[in-house]
Amino acid sequence: MIELKHITKVYDNNYRALDDINLTIRDGEIFGIIGQSGAGKSTLVRCINMLEPPSSGEVIINGKDMTKLSSSELRKERKNIGMIFQHFNLLSNRTVAQNVAFPLELANVPKAEQKKRIDDILELVGLTSYKDKYPSQLSGGQKQRVGIARAVVSNPSVLLSDEATSALDPETVKSILELLKDINKKLNITIIMIAHQMEVIKEICERVAVIEHGKIIEQGSTVDLFTNP
Ligand code: ADP
Ligand code: ADP
Repeated sequence: MIELKHITKVYDNNYRALDDINLTIRDGEIFGIIGQSGAGKSTLVRCINMLEPPSSGEVIINGKDMTKLSSSELRKERKNIGMIFQHFNLLSNRTVAQNVAFPLELANVPKAEQKKRIDDILELVGLTSYKDKYPSQLSGGQKQRVGIARAVVSNPSVLLSDEATSALDPETVKSILELLKDINKKLNITIIMIAHQMEVIKEICERVAVIEHGKIIEQGSTVDLFTNP
């Protein structure tokens, strides 16, 4: 379970990007966070993995308050949180397999186990035959598949998706959403999806929160929120 309690984020320039955010995300669900550009969505996911420490409030993941951890404990807990991005953030001078290997190398996973995990995850995302290609040789959808493989290769329990389908064409969006659903089930991973497009959230999320000017203005089941006037 992920609990956000009274999260506030005030940037150095005194801009209040998040104002008293309270949310509970259940294990294994796909939870959506929707809002317009500038609403505070990225700030919120970055607070969840502490890339951007909140100014106040608690981020409780599996019983631990992330805001209270020492930097070494935080490094350990972060391995439990994968992240995917709008522009994929792949390393251009590394092959597909080498990109996916990156988090395993940082964690000093033995080479033989790295290779097995990389092979398994590339099969799951459908890129086995692309493992020695470079990012520049891939389509947008394939690049995001690599991003997803890299994010989940260390078996995290949480996947944060920051506008991961925003740079893709509608057909590709569908296939990436299918893959995320598949990964949610097969790997039993909780997914937090940030999007500004309602279609994306409707397609994949059971529950959703609407954020506006750093505040949650509504939350509930996707069906209720998007079908009632
Ligand atoms: P969203 O992801 O919903 O587009 P963001 O979380 O990126 O929104 O940004 C929310 C607000 O915080 C925006 O007004 C943005 O300009 C501001 N902001 C984001 N990062 C910083 C920063 N490092 N310093 C100051 N203001 C920031
Ligand atoms: P090295 O560290 O010996 O230079 P590479 O850069 O070739 O290794 O590979 C980096 C990581 O990617 C290693 O964990 C390796 O096991 C993995 N890897 C490289 N190529 C493949 C491949 N074709 N299939 C599976 N895993 C691969």
